[in-house]
Amino acid sequence: MTAKLLLATANRKKLTELQRILDAALGTGRVQLAGLDDFPGYPDVPETGLTFGENALIKAREGATRTGLPTVADDSGLAVDALNGMPGVFSARWSGGHGDDQANLDLVLAQISDVGEDHRGGAFVCAAALVLPNGREHLVEGRQTGRILRARRGTGGFGYDPIFVGDGQDRTNAELSPAEKDAISHRGQALRKLAKVIARELPR
Ligand code: IMP
Repeated sequence: MTAKLLLATANRKKLTELQRILDAALGTGRVQLAGLDDFPGYPDVPETGLTFGENALIKAREGATRTGLPTVADDSGLAVDALNGMPGVFSARWSGGHGDDQANLDLVLAQISDVGEDHRGGAFVCAAALVLPNGREHLVEGRQTGRILRARRGTGGFGYDPIFVGDGQDRTNAELSPAEKDAISHRGQALRKLAKVIARELPR
C-alpha cells in the first residue's frame, strides 16, 4: 500500500530530495509525498520558534491539522561557535531580507573576520519532524560539524556551503557533488533517521 504524506514545504527541490531518500530507505512506491502547492490557499505559517526543532514542529503540526495527512517538516541552518550559535534559526534572513544567500554569507564572514583559526568551528543543523493526524509527534536531528573559512570556495550547493568545510573533509560543501553532500549533510542525516520513523509509523 502506498501511504500519502505531506512535506510542509513549497520547495519542489526539497520534495524531490526527500522522496529520493524515502524511496531508497523504504522501497519505491511505499510513500508518495505531496507538497504545499498541492493545497491551493494554504497559508504562510510564521516560523516563530527559537530552535530548529520548534520550527519543524510548528510547520508539521499545522500541516497535519489542515490536511489530515501525516506531515513531515524540516528546519535547518548554520550555527557558528564564535557567534554563540547564530545565525541559527535566522540563517535564511540573517542580513535582513529573506533568502539572500550572498548577503547572508558575506555578513557572517565580516562578523567573524577577526576570529582566529582555533575558534572558527560551526555546524549545519537540521531538525525534521513527523506529526500524525492522531497527534503523535516525532522529532529527529542531523548535524554536520566543521569550520568556517575566510573566503568562498566552490560553486555547488546553496546558502553557506561555499564557506563551510566539514570535519574530515578538505573541500567545502560547495565543492562536493550532491550525492557526496547528501551522504554527510545535516539534512541527509536527519531525513534518513526520519525515514526509519516513517517506516515504523505508517501501515503497510
Ligand atoms: P531551510 O530551513 O532549509 O529553509 O534553510 C534555512 C537557511 O539555512 C537557508 O536559507 C540557508 O541559508 C541555510 N542552510 C540550510 N541548509 C543549508 C545547507 O545545506 N547548505 C547551506 N546553507 C544551508
